[in-house]
Formats: sequence, structure tokens, C-alpha cells
Amino acid sequence: MFAGHIGAGMLIARAEPRMNVGGFIFAALLLDVVLWLLVLLGVESVSIPADFGHTHQPLFSFPYSHGLPAGLAWSGLAGCGVWLAGSRFGSAKRRAAALVAAAVFSHWLLDVLVHAPELPLLGSHSAKLGLGLWQNMPVALAVEASVVLVGLCAFLPGSALPRGRKLWLATLALLLLAFTVAGMTLAPAPPSGAAMAASSLLTIVVACALLGWLGQGSGR
Ligand SMILES: [Zn+2]
Repeated sequence: MFAGHIGAGMLIARAEPRMNVGGFIFAALLLDVVLWLLVLLGVESVSIPADFGHTHQPLFSFPYSHGLPAGLAWSGLAGCGVWLAGSRFGSAKRRAAALVAAAVFSHWLLDVLVHAPELPLLGSHSAKLGLGLWQNMPVALAVEASVVLVGLCAFLPGSALPRGRKLWLATLALLLLAFTVAGMTLAPAPPSGAAMAASSLLTIVVACALLGWLGQGSGR
């Protein structure tokens, strides 16, 4: 899931107009940033199964980015970071920190919905969670598209952004949704897990940079 996390970030951004929406979107994608960095470092792994062309689902071993304790820990760390650095939020910085932590953890919840049972409840050898909605890809993509649309409809009307930036932000979010749909239906198998990690990380960084740039002015 990629665009769905962007939708969740926009939905949560509605609650804190003093912060750039791009910050919430990055928070909602943080667990994947950690995943791809750890894959490139050889700490976690992703493998491409022989039936990838049919399922479009790699196989993950990702206890330190997507385990339940890891998800909670990364959420807590991100929240603490905002709390420590968030003097501009004044008395509301505890709330801003809680919202950022919620954005980080929303990633884990959405991933549990779509992944096969592969998100560790504790460590690598513990029970794994995952409701496997990707087994029914059209439904999974419809749910993901709905999250994006709900996020856009929640964020845009109350945002202080100029109309032009709102339009570009919506266009980019919908383009990233189309990119996600293509990736989960048409894309060929990546040559390796490392190649997938590098391209995914680059995509997240570029998308968040663009969304954050467009979101300048959403933080009042
Ligand atoms: Zn993820």
C-alpha cells in the first residue's frame, strides 16, 4: 500500500492545521522508509516470489519496521521527536505529537488490513498478523482509493492553502493512487529485493518532498 497511507496522512492533517500536511504524510509512510532502509542495510528482507507477476506481492521479513512492538516504538519515537522540537505549537505540541504518532501507527493498521499474515505480533518467530485483503486485489484497491478520497475530502476544504496548491495536491495524490494501482496490477517483477527497496525509497522521498512543497502554507 502506498497511496492509502498518503490518504491517512491527509485525514489526520485535518486535525492540526499548523503543521505542513507533508509532515503527516511522511509520518504515515515512516514504517516503509524504515523498511526499505533496513532492507538496503541487510537487516530486513524482501523477496520476489515466482508468482509475483500474478500476485504482485513480495514476501517480507520485517520485524523491526512492521512488527507490532516496532510500529508502536516508531510511533512513540516520532511523537517524542515532535514534542521535543515542536515549540512552535506552543501549548498544543502534545496534541501535535499525538497526531504524528497516530499517523505513524495508521500505517501499521492499514498494512494489517491488506498484507498476508506476515506482520509479527512480537519478534520474527512470533505469530503473524495480516487480514490478506490483497488476495482480493480489486476490493483492496477500491478500499485504498476510498482512503485517498476520504483523506482529500477531509483535508482540502478546511486547509488554508491557496486554491492552486490544493488543486496540485489533489492531482498529485490521485496520480500516486494511479501509480499504486498500476504497481499492484501491471508492474513486472522487480529484478531483486534491493532494487525494489531502492526504487520504493526514492519514490517515497520524491513524493513526500513534492507533497510537502505543495503543502507549504498548510502549516499556519
Ligand atoms: Zn508498510
